[in-house]
Amino acid sequence: MRLNFGCGTDRGLRRETNEDSFIAADPVFAIADGMGGHEAGEIASGICVRTLAELPQVATGGRDATAAVVQQYLLQADAGIREATGSRAGTTLSGVIVVEEQGVSNWLVLNIGDSRTYRLNQGKLSQVSVDHSEVQELVDAGEITPAEAAVHPRRHVVTRALGTGDETDADYRLLPIEDGDRILVCSDGLNGELDDQHISRILAAEPDPQAAVDELIQAALRSGGRDNVTCIVVDARRES
Ligand code: MG
Repeated sequence: MRLNFGCGTDRGLRRETNEDSFIAADPVFAIADGMGGHEAGEIASGICVRTLAELPQVATGGRDATAAVVQQYLLQADAGIREATGSRAGTTLSGVIVVEEQGVSNWLVLNIGDSRTYRLNQGKLSQVSVDHSEVQELVDAGEITPAEAAVHPRRHVVTRALGTGDETDADYRLLPIEDGDRILVCSDGLNGELDDQHISRILAAEPDPQAAVDELIQAALRSGGRDNVTCIVVDARRES
């Protein structure tokens, strides 16, 4: 598989600091959205992505990462954040790591919190991470619809995070990579401003991954830019 990717982040129009951090270094593509005022959120998300960057695969480009090993790094990040911020700050993390198993390339999707990973496949956009949030629990219980969740007053409350609380396990999911797959990883500053149809339109219209990222961020700013917004777009093509 040949990967082509773009990435970008913007403070947005309302926040004084950018508490999002990201890593886009083949085979690791992930975004952390820090929370906790007075720059603590920035510290939390920074520790998280710097810890992930220590995965040996980031230096070697190796495709042999496993969920078990990644989870060890996340536990280390969790401890580091607690130590640095006195458990006053936490961070989400979502993204993909490209792994190969018996000659098959996969997206190892990882998620904790409410940043998101989507896949555009055959023109269809689907969210491949499941939010850890109060509103997602209400949706799962059938109490509200996804559309109601998007405008719910408690939509920003996460139920799992690194560095704070007692639920620190990420979810992992392995998806075989299909030729032409496009992955979008984003912080909630994107999907809080643009609905999935709008995101899908931009991803479908812009073939270049960096141009797609730039357009997504500009669209989020035009919609209000109420939060920090970070995006990574990764395209996978079978090598011929
Ligand atoms: Mg955010």
